[in-house]
Amino acid sequence: MQSQNTLITGGAGFIGSNFVRHWQQKSATLIVLDALTYAGNRATLSDLEGQKGFHFVEGDICEAQLVAHLLATHAIDTIVHFAAESHVDRSISGPAAFIQTNVVGTFTLLEAFRHHWEAQGKPEHFRFLHVSTDEVFGSLGSEDPAFSETTPYAPNSPYSASKAGSDHLVRAYFHTYGLPTLITNCSNNYGPYQFPEKLIPLMCVNILLGKPLPVYGDGQNIRDWLHVKDHCRAIERVLLQARPGETYNIGGNNQVKNIEIVEQLCDLMDSDAAELPVTPARQLITFVRDRPGHDRRYAMDISKIQQDLGWQPQYDFATGLKQTVAWYLANRRWWQPLLSSEYQGYYEALYGDR
Ligand code: NAD
Repeated sequence: MQSQNTLITGGAGFIGSNFVRHWQQKSATLIVLDALTYAGNRATLSDLEGQKGFHFVEGDICEAQLVAHLLATHAIDTIVHFAAESHVDRSISGPAAFIQTNVVGTFTLLEAFRHHWEAQGKPEHFRFLHVSTDEVFGSLGSEDPAFSETTPYAPNSPYSASKAGSDHLVRAYFHTYGLPTLITNCSNNYGPYQFPEKLIPLMCVNILLGKPLPVYGDGQNIRDWLHVKDHCRAIERVLLQARPGETYNIGGNNQVKNIEIVEQLCDLMDSDAAELPVTPARQLITFVRDRPGHDRRYAMDISKIQQDLGWQPQYDFATGLKQTVAWYLANRRWWQPLLSSEYQGYYEALYGDR
């Protein structure tokens, strides 16, 4: 499959922006469509603006006319769909935006892409790749086997339910219309350009500011962690090699307890940051009331993508985490402006003054 012209939704967010950099040389035209919500940051891509073939469009994936216009005028053959409301805690306090963007927005993109594909005579090389999450599968007990591509969906948060809904729509467009869709379900990502509300950057930023490090419940919840660049390589493999209609689990074979990550970050910061307001940083760890419906454990069986497409995670977690800490230390100018009054309001509503 040769992609010529790609539309990347949510390209000003964390994973989307990393993928834009990864994919830029591989697509003649690359259009980023992003609504620049609180999680989108145009500055992340500012060095790409003006480069040949790159266009940034500020707009909402729910705007059907805008999407149809972009598909037609740029002769798009590939959509890589990252745009989403992505934070579980915000989905608990305000689920409506999650239904609108994740479900209605994905439907809007699918409809526009279907009409565009049909108008072009249903070319075989068109692709719609939908980026999703392991959270659609629900929660695992400590002895349960990892999620596979055939694990039944059992989402527990408004976020994961909205992603599950969008996954089902993408699947249905393949089975009903033959639209060449693909779905990837990935575990927790870490790396550069992640918004400070998420676990790893939240801890890095709070350690640098000398603020408490809020850890939910007993801190024993387990997530599988994958470096964002490994995720981008996996998406490329699926895009270029997978048969339409397929779905792939992506993960790092790297299950870690939340408290262990926080402790590792404290120790890395103690040794790598020039000056910290509070040392050792572990003193800042503060256990807070658990998130409602908090899934205990996620783990991904990645044997299908390993066997079918020959993809393997390359980052070792200790190295990737150290590099990520170094990135947050070196890029204060990127994250500092994101601690806006909107963020402060969200933060105080969630954690109080802790
Ligand atoms: P993010 O919150 O950092 O970025 C989301 C981006 O989408 C932002 O730039 C935002 O402005 C944009 N956006 C939101 N609503 C929009 C709309 N209506 N129209 C256009 N743009 C809109 O998210 P992320 O962490 O980069 O996640 C990207 C995708 O990957 C999501 O679909 C998420 O469900 C999925 N995913 C994330 C992880 C993870 O660990 N972060 C893991 C697996 C899957």
